[in-house]
Amino acid sequence: MNTKLWVVDKDVENKNSYPQIEEAAVLLRQKEVIAFPTETVYGLGADATSDEAVAKIFEAKGRPNDNPLIVHIAKLEQLNHLVSAVSPVAQQLIKHFWPGPLTLVLPKKDGVSEKVTAGLETVAVRMPDHPVALALIAQANVSVAAPSANRSGRPSPTLASHVYEDLNGKIAGIVDGGATGVGVESTVLDCTSDIPTILRPGGVTKEQLEEVIGQVMIDPGLENETEKPKSPGMKYTHYAPKAPLTVVEGTRSYIQQLAKEKQAEGLKVGVLTTEENHSFYQADAVLSCGKRSEPATVAAKLYEALRAFDAAGVDVIYSESFPKEGIGIAIMNRLIKAAGHQIIVE
Ligand code: AMP
Ligand code: MG
Repeated sequence: MNTKLWVVDKDVENKNSYPQIEEAAVLLRQKEVIAFPTETVYGLGADATSDEAVAKIFEAKGRPNDNPLIVHIAKLEQLNHLVSAVSPVAQQLIKHFWPGPLTLVLPKKDGVSEKVTAGLETVAVRMPDHPVALALIAQANVSVAAPSANRSGRPSPTLASHVYEDLNGKIAGIVDGGATGVGVESTVLDCTSDIPTILRPGGVTKEQLEEVIGQVMIDPGLENETEKPKSPGMKYTHYAPKAPLTVVEGTRSYIQQLAKEKQAEGLKVGVLTTEENHSFYQADAVLSCGKRSEPATVAAKLYEALRAFDAAGVDVIYSESFPKEGIGIAIMNRLIKAAGHQIIVE
């Protein structure tokens, strides 16, 4: 398949006049699969009401069928076609956080493709905060099911070039709107339980949610590996660079010592660090993902850094760890998954 590429300026004045997006929207209506930028990561979109279209997402990504997708909408009216009820709490959250990196799990209506929900009685929905995503969904005039636009298991794409790397030849097109913003995926919040429950930490923090709706729980499956996660996607290894990654909870000197030991065995070693600590390390590839003092910059650069280790051709990677608070919860969740749960505590 020939993958088309459209470059669009996300800052154009008149959001109704994206000629390239019209072409992409036509392909979406024709049940093709299109990658597009959102404020979190690049998404791989298809018409959420069409089994045929949604099946193409799973095929292109190599995604397991039991992992449901998030449906993206551009206008609130679209929600009525997808869900059977919006609780007062969900309404408050929508008012406060949409468009934005918060996905709500709500009771579904018939008509949503079973392939989207993986047979569940609920559907996950969000409105992305990105002018290009909103224009594309609005012009296609369909709800768009979209997981991250990477091959399953790989780090999520934060640049169009990442999508190209993974999916060129496998999808109808890529809308290139530059670098995404938040860098980690949306927070997935189950609004069907008595106390709303975070199934996946992400761009909106627990503290931010609690300021608006009071008590919020975290799915025990996220913390405790023996519990079955309620969000099916959380059980898969994800976000992984090609070389094995180990997260180290310890000092810089300890990480440097681990790196030296592997080098002595003849291996090429990568260290994932931050701008503050970059000059401290000696290894084959020392890459920083943002500033430790500004965790949002770490979220924004994390996946790009993980992908860059592939280009550096290292054999093993050690990563610093981050405080599990605020956006740090999402950062550590992705890092630990990328490491396949390999953690060394000093
Ligand atoms: P991704 O599409 O890769 O960003 O992942 C979407 C996440 O949302 C996965 O972890 C899914 O398991 C989760 N998800 C999607 N739909 C539902 C649903 N109806 N109930 C619970 N989790 C869901
Ligand atoms: Mg994903």
